[in-house]
Amino acid sequence: MREFELIKTFFQHEQADLLLEEKAQASVVLGIGDDCALLQVTANKQLAISVDTLVADVHFPADAKPEDIAERALRTNLSDLAAMGAEPLWFTLALTLPKNSVYTSEEWLRGFSRGLFRTANHYEIVLVGGDTTSGPLSITIQAMGAVESQQALRRDGASVGDFVCVTNCVGDGAAALAVIQNRLKLDVAHEHYLRERFYRPVPRLIESSLLTNIASAALDISDGLVADLNHICEASDLGAVIDVENLPLSPALLATNDLQQARTWALSGGDDYELCFTVPPEKLPELAMLIAQEKIKATVIGEIVAGSGVHCELNGETFELAAQGYEHF
Ligand code: ADP
Ligand code: MG
Repeated sequence: MREFELIKTFFQHEQADLLLEEKAQASVVLGIGDDCALLQVTANKQLAISVDTLVADVHFPADAKPEDIAERALRTNLSDLAAMGAEPLWFTLALTLPKNSVYTSEEWLRGFSRGLFRTANHYEIVLVGGDTTSGPLSITIQAMGAVESQQALRRDGASVGDFVCVTNCVGDGAAALAVIQNRLKLDVAHEHYLRERFYRPVPRLIESSLLTNIASAALDISDGLVADLNHICEASDLGAVIDVENLPLSPALLATNDLQQARTWALSGGDDYELCFTVPPEKLPELAMLIAQEKIKATVIGEIVAGSGVHCELNGETFELAAQGYEHF
């Protein structure tokens, strides 16, 4: 069974119990299906909450530096808060460490702790609890943030005619993985840039706070642009067209001298942690102003249309993709 079908079938269903249903209606503003759940805390504040697990050799190489592993783990979780337009407040950390291994050495744990708190201090998020167990190396972080009622950037707000945009550039996540796995060789500076993008993705918190009154829908790109934009389409009951020529690609990606590969990475590679968002035409001047003032880097890459699914076009023709994005199953 595939990842999203599994979640829908076994975990995303109506509450059978009437009392529980009432409780959920009173407090759960947004449940399963977005980057964070939104829970009503007071009349005008909502708690945005998200949890993600990083498994060794699936989400990061087990022999990566402990600082880097910790930074990536916390930053990717902060990215889900950014995707909702929430301000980071607290996080919990569940660590599973193999017994009698390098991972329980003082040196590894000191490095992990250093990376973790460097990031936590930078983004002003406080560690408030967790769990430590033995087993195969994995890191689970639950991130919590606050957002004003009605202000969250959800996946279900897009309309026909909205422009589809992304922040900064896309495709670096997949290119970085290729460098880390020795499948791609570039010059030292570009390889360094890509490694940084992998281990220190920048959660787009500033951007999302600026987009609160501009974007109609948003999410962060973790599985791949097409797959993630499809989540906006499904939640909004619409389709989208991407103009492949307009995809913003980094100098490192262009330095691969393989535009077809670079575009494929940008569309289906994943791990970019940029925001993909939609903007109604009447709000486009406000976005253009933020871009001109260099407060935000963003590019229009397509449009929301009637129908369903994401269609990629290059020079008026369909741009075929072998795979749409990453799925665990
Ligand atoms: P993201 O990529 O933003 O972290 P995911 O693709 O991991 O989101 O998950 C999609 C949605 O399904 C989210 O709302 C998440 O909270 C929910 N979800 C995933 N796994 C489970 C589960 N086992 N039980 C309940 N909800 C889940
Ligand atoms: Mg997300």
